[in-house]
Amino acid sequence: MSEEKRTEIGEIGEFGLIDQLAEKVRYYHGETVKGIGDDAAVYDAGDHYMLISSDMLLEGVHFDLSYMPLQHLGYKAVAVNVSDLAAMNGVPRQITVNLGLSNRFSVEAVELIYEGIRAACEAFKVDLVGGDTTTSKSGLVISVTATGAVDKDKIVYRSGAKESEILCVTGDVGAAFIGLNVLEREKQEFLGNPDMQPKLDKYPYVVGRQLRPQARMDIIHEFADLGIVPTSMIDVSDGLASEIFHLCKHSGLGAAIYEDKLPIDKEAYETAAEFSIDPNTCALNGGEDYELLFTIKQEDFEKLKNHAEIHTIGYMQAMDKGRTMVTRNNNVIELQAQGWKHF
Ligand code: ADP
Ligand code: MG
Repeated sequence: MSEEKRTEIGEIGEFGLIDQLAEKVRYYHGETVKGIGDDAAVYDAGDHYMLISSDMLLEGVHFDLSYMPLQHLGYKAVAVNVSDLAAMNGVPRQITVNLGLSNRFSVEAVELIYEGIRAACEAFKVDLVGGDTTTSKSGLVISVTATGAVDKDKIVYRSGAKESEILCVTGDVGAAFIGLNVLEREKQEFLGNPDMQPKLDKYPYVVGRQLRPQARMDIIHEFADLGIVPTSMIDVSDGLASEIFHLCKHSGLGAAIYEDKLPIDKEAYETAAEFSIDPNTCALNGGEDYELLFTIKQEDFEKLKNHAEIHTIGYMQAMDKGRTMVTRNNNVIELQAQGWKHF
């Protein structure tokens, strides 16, 4: 037996691991403006910045093929990358697609994945320019790398928030996680009784949020139209609370949010109740919503306050005031982030 030190990844967590790896990385090119640590990397392309982001989806970890249609999977693999570009206030340009396929997959099955990829390319106006295909011995792997572009004076990092700026989130949160619960329940019932048809009709919104997430490019175009540049931004992939922590950490601040301001869809709320799970906990920790969380200057509030898809949930405060939440019964509690743990 070797005496070498062994640290479990779970001890430092996914983010701790990335931080540790990033510390030793050196950058050799002056045009690398931002490396590891934001939603996408940034490099100087002369009159504008280019963005690069990469995301991998693994069967059994990120999706279950017993309920994830292949077209939706293809769409989602692109959308989650576009979402990271949106989080930098950028627009997508190109993608490459890497596939790990077992012999379980037919040509027709791969065609279905690509149907979804092409649909996303059309929806988000992206060019599919390459990729790689290999065999996989442990399930389907689909990994997408996307490039994007943004004007130099419009780029938004996680780190730009200032004290007393307003914290906003788009759309609603928690529904994708609740949709996952519905799909898992139906799968278990189906395994118990294969003659049974899954009952998903009652849950179109939450199931759709899980199976076919959208990147909020609509909001990025609206920011441009309204002349708004958020001061900081991140997309909600791991869970709202965890993303708030990221904005706080990178901006050197604390934050205060209000539980009663969390945007929760009606169907999501009712379905959470059916599962006896707290909809607020789902909203804070559910993940995979692919909404945008961002801060704006107070003076920009007027322009966004009546926007149906943008919700003010709190404000940024000094770091020593912590990360707090005012609950529905007016208690101030410390905000907890459970997020998704991959390790
Ligand atoms: P997101 O949830 O927005 O996709 P992640 O938490 O996956 O962001 O990644 C955070 C940062 O760490 C990003 O800059 C990403 O490029 C970087 N990163 C993640 N995994 C690795 C890795 N294995 N090597 C280098 N950088 C990584
Ligand atoms: Mg992100």
